[in-house]
Amino acid sequence: MVEQIIVKSVEEALSRLSERKYIIYAGGTDLIVQNRTVSEAPIPFKNPVLYCANLKELKYVKEGDDYLYIGAMTTLSELLTYESVPKLLKEAIEQMASPAIRNIATLAGNLGNASPAGDSLVPLYTLNALIKCQSVKASRLIPIQDFFVGLKKTALTDSEMITEIIIPKNRFKSTMYRKVGTRKADALSKVSFAGAYSIVHDKICDFRISIGAVNVTVVRRFDIEAKLIGKTIEQAQKMKNQIISLYLSSIKPINDQRSNIEYRTQVTKNLISAFMDTLD
Ligand SMILES: Cc1cc2nc3c(=O)[nH]c(=O)nc-3n(C[C@H](O)[C@H](O)[C@H](O)COP(=O)(O)OP(=O)(O)OC[C@H]3O[C@@H](n4cnc5c(N)ncnc54)[C@H](O)[C@@H]3O)c2cc1C
Repeated sequence: MVEQIIVKSVEEALSRLSERKYIIYAGGTDLIVQNRTVSEAPIPFKNPVLYCANLKELKYVKEGDDYLYIGAMTTLSELLTYESVPKLLKEAIEQMASPAIRNIATLAGNLGNASPAGDSLVPLYTLNALIKCQSVKASRLIPIQDFFVGLKKTALTDSEMITEIIIPKNRFKSTMYRKVGTRKADALSKVSFAGAYSIVHDKICDFRISIGAVNVTVVRRFDIEAKLIGKTIEQAQKMKNQIISLYLSSIKPINDQRSNIEYRTQVTKNLISAFMDTLD
């Protein structure tokens, strides 16, 4: 019999997590699929389950002067209703799963699952999101690129949970999100892409690219981005092949049931090229 605890407050959740290892249950859309056995049999979770989806304290979107704060139990559907949620993130959410799944699934769950194909990850990398991880003793803010430490591995300890996702307010000139999957709805990504840039006085002052499903974690290369800062659009266009080669050297796509190395490599190339063509 699986022990399940429905927590009534964040304080209780953190206190429970300080006592022993639990599986944090938000929408359950990954957990149920990953742990199911035969139809109608009780799900054989390996550890007791901490049911957190009811935590109203963690259901919010708040706007500050410089940051947007998203409570960990806010569902994907709820996020789509807020004007303040960045377009890049909304575009990714709109293409995740189906409306029924989005009504219960959370952003924190997509992060906690830590799949390199998690669709909210690429916009969150490009937006420089910070993940607030809390335990009964402390709270720490982890930049998203440090939150993922390997394939399906995060920096979270057993006594911590994600309580908030914090997104700096960015004013980009333009952004581009693309999900390449088998079909539009209910398909996981073969490759996903989120790019953003800004230009001041005809020179690039901000340039960001994140690519998903082509390595064990999302690929974001600050060193490559830096090469384009201060360049005019003309100069950047001349560097396009060099930039694409640098990104290709940092991806390690795999063959799996959704796609193969050649396809993922070609799509990555096409997406970087298409994004650089949008520079204007
Ligand atoms: C039919 C179907 C289609 C799908 N399509 C897509 C898709 O297109 N794109 C995509 O990216 N995903 C897709 N998914 C996967 C899933 O819906 C998402 O990853 C979703 O965001 C998970 O959120 P959840 O709240 O349901 O997470 P849960 O299943 O509750 O949890 C997932 C993991 O995160 C951990 N976790 C949850 N909340 C926290 C927290 N606050 N702190 C720490 N750890 C936490 C859990 O312990 C677990 O390990 C699909 C799933 C299904 C069933």
